[in-house]
Amino acid sequence: NEVLKINNLVKKYDNSDRVILNNLDLTINDEDFLCILGPSGCGKSTLIRCIAGFEDYEGSIKVDGQPVVKPGPDRIMVFQDFNQLFPWKTVLKNITYALKVNGMKDKAEREQKAKKYLEKVNLVQYANYYPHQLSGGMKQRVAIAKGMALGSKIILMDEPFAALDAMTRKQLQSELLKLKQKEKITVIFITHNIQEAISLGNRIMVMSKEGTIKEHLYNTIEKPV
Ligand code: ADP
Ligand code: ADP
Repeated sequence: NEVLKINNLVKKYDNSDRVILNNLDLTINDEDFLCILGPSGCGKSTLIRCIAGFEDYEGSIKVDGQPVVKPGPDRIMVFQDFNQLFPWKTVLKNITYALKVNGMKDKAEREQKAKKYLEKVNLVQYANYYPHQLSGGMKQRVAIAKGMALGSKIILMDEPFAALDAMTRKQLQSELLKLKQKEKITVIFITHNIQEAISLGNRIMVMSKEGTIKEHLYNTIEKPV
């Protein structure tokens, strides 16, 4: 199923005439794990910030047929170093609080749901930890659990593992792939690491510095899970 449809996307920033994204078209299906490669400054972050709803744009971006106008619970952006977690709340409370804000009335139900999603990212035993007691990768997984609990279908990741050592990166890549196999989630993943793109994505898109899609291919290499 088509989950994301982008047509004639054009992005300029207010303070400049430069066209960052130049008439981009892109359709993503719900089973896709799309890796985006391209030279530094070509607009990769700008593209996923537009999808996340953080930027205004010209053209059309639709998630499940609905135009993207602002951030929403159907899309979650996972950052490299900070993850929208409240440092004064435990992992569990971070998620139950988000559910409460999104209208879930019953406290026991919120806790049950939060725990269910923490289990999916193998963190249920850290439910009562505070964010600073977790590694960077664990915080990313909490952010993913929170997003899934809120009903996110699309996980947007901007070089999430770039700052990690090789061992940790391998571990997190494999966890992400396992999660992707278990859950119905769509992942859009920016990386500058071709190896990483090949080992994670079923689709790989290369952007040019002119803000267009230079190459777009399906990757059939088996995943190392
Ligand atoms: P990438 O993620 O591919 O490295 P970015 O999307 O971060 O590229 O940036 C694309 C271009 O847009 C760069 O030239 C950058 O300087 C510019 N840019 C990014 N954010 C802003 C902003 N908030 N205001 C103005 N220009 C920006
Ligand atoms: P990162 O480079 O992602 O910050 P760390 O070096 O902090 O990773 O942590 C490496 C590993 O140690 C993590 O993947 C996790 O399995 C474990 N770890 C980190 N913090 C804790 C903690 N508070 N309790 C238990 N295990 C932890």
